[in-house]
Amino acid sequence: MESTLTARDRVGVQDFVLLENYTSEAAFIENLRRRFGENLIYTYIGSVLVSVNPNKDLEIYSKAHMERYRGVSFYEISPHIYAVSDNTYRAMRTERRDQCILISGESGAGKTEASKKILQYYATTCPVTDHLSTLRDRLLQSNPVLEAFGNAKTLRNDNSSRFGKYMDVQFDFRGAPIGGHILNYLLEKSRVVHQNHGERNFHIFYQLLEGGEQDLLSKLGLERNAQKYQYLVKGCCPRVSSINDKNDWRTVRKALTVIGFHEDEVEDLLNIIASVLHLGNTQFGEGKNGENQITTETQLKYLSKLLGVDGAALREALTHKKITAKGEEMISPLSFEQAVAARDALAKAVYGRAFTWLVVKINQSLLASETISFFQFCINYCNEKLHQLFIELTLKSEQEEYEAEGITWEPVKYFDNKIICDLVEGKHKGLISILDEECLRPGEPSDISFLEKLEDTLGGHAHFVTHKLSNGKTRKAVSREEFKLIHYAGEVNYSVNGFLDKNKDLLYRNLKESDMSPLWRFDEALVRHQVKYLGLMENLRVRRAGFAYRRHYETFLQRYKSLCPGTWPNWQGRLADGVATLVQHLGYKPEEYKLGKTKIFIRFPKTLFSTEDSLEA
Ligand code: ATP
Ligand code: MG
Repeated sequence: MESTLTARDRVGVQDFVLLENYTSEAAFIENLRRRFGENLIYTYIGSVLVSVNPNKDLEIYSKAHMERYRGVSFYEISPHIYAVSDNTYRAMRTERRDQCILISGESGAGKTEASKKILQYYATTCPVTDHLSTLRDRLLQSNPVLEAFGNAKTLRNDNSSRFGKYMDVQFDFRGAPIGGHILNYLLEKSRVVHQNHGERNFHIFYQLLEGGEQDLLSKLGLERNAQKYQYLVKGCCPRVSSINDKNDWRTVRKALTVIGFHEDEVEDLLNIIASVLHLGNTQFGEGKNGENQITTETQLKYLSKLLGVDGAALREALTHKKITAKGEEMISPLSFEQAVAARDALAKAVYGRAFTWLVVKINQSLLASETISFFQFCINYCNEKLHQLFIELTLKSEQEEYEAEGITWEPVKYFDNKIICDLVEGKHKGLISILDEECLRPGEPSDISFLEKLEDTLGGHAHFVTHKLSNGKTRKAVSREEFKLIHYAGEVNYSVNGFLDKNKDLLYRNLKESDMSPLWRFDEALVRHQVKYLGLMENLRVRRAGFAYRRHYETFLQRYKSLCPGTWPNWQGRLADGVATLVQHLGYKPEEYKLGKTKIFIRFPKTLFSTEDSLEA
């Protein structure tokens, strides 16, 4: 028998609530796959937008596309990041309340790109006067600058953000963007001195070497060859095919000017970038009397010039340490290893401060640390908080709205990760409080004494596990120097080594990288993992059990009254009655919609609106 493939079979459903087998993860992923095959990377779960990274340029971000999404409801047009941008903007204007768009996903998922698309949408579609256009340009131009100094090629993403970012855009009463604020946190400073195989240092180093004018490089004492610099050769990949460092240099250089950096400020910044490279090439060796000394005089000369410090003082600082004993200052020499560590620490500190200074110019930032366990803990905690926000904004508020509107509703259960957030951040009894207390405690606090404190305070908590069992026996899966947290996304063991030290410094992020290559392919394992841990199935269940479409009576009537003779041209009675007349006329059965206190809720808005994607999307 011949089968006919309908458009819907081919492109799947554009909103998961329309999926017949909505509890099946396999059906969910199959729908994503079908759409992906048709270049449809966006799918809704109600107002949540799921996006699959295409890793190639799609012709869906033109000005014409932006225009198509202006003032249009979600269900009337193919899912798109512009629809989310536009709906959020309109909600802000009509409800006169702040709105937020939360973007989450693993490294390489497309978060940074999505945030840029949103900004571009606002930059293009919002009303702007001449005066404001400067601000708009600065907001847009802050991206290439932050990416140059804060992004790097990793195994998972050629342009991976090695810092977290929270961005605010402020609008005036006319809806024109009038200000912005970027909060950066958790910069991965260790990348300055070390990169894993196949990874690079921050983009700016390669951009400067590739794109910097010859005069500039000479002044900085640099050669146009990344291979010459110890801090750039660890990952063995100075060039990346997807990156044009020379062009990017021009973009960044121009952006710095647009943002309002003075020439001398740019000079200071580049002096610091160059001095990091010179530090990396600073070598130590044995002197005549067996002492450890700097063997690279040229580097020292440039360092002192670029950083504006006295050469002798710098030499001493890199090879000696100052100790105060019984009120007296003593200078003692550093061993070879200590000198290398001090040099690397200086390079990281200098870069970290330059980054902070850079974003203070645009905004404000935090610094970083380097124990894998500790920063993984920080990153996982961030994810935990993001998940909580996601639950708050989607699952919880969705169900609460039904309740508030008096819609009969069988609550859908979901896992609320508040218990884990409390475990980490709770006052006095939370992990972070205990860590802070232990850091400040007089005596000899150590990572192990910290672990003991954790056991005393948190032992028995359902999401906290150490090697000790309540009956005094030891638990194999957790070593004596570890604790385990049962996160919403799975169990993770953390070694306490370095926790105290790193907590005294500030925090940063790094992720265990694996190969996941940017080809045009649908990586099922990766997709499955994210479907699970982003809670998309639970989300769908709430949406599906509920109503995909809702509108205030007035808005609904205004928009669709022409479809029914009884409501056209104007409905005179109660709004709810008008809406009821309209939907009955359209053939909706009573079980397919509900009338709330102020809104109509429609389970599947299939006949009223086109829910298939337009195939050219
Ligand atoms: P990280 O957490 O590592 O910073 P990320 O989620 O910010 O990752 P992006 O840098 O946004 O990931 O995306 C990685 C790459 O994927 C981009 O450089 C781009 O090449 C590609 N990409 C992402 N989104 C899109 C898109 N919508 N269209 C085309 N390519 C995309
Ligand atoms: Mg990113």
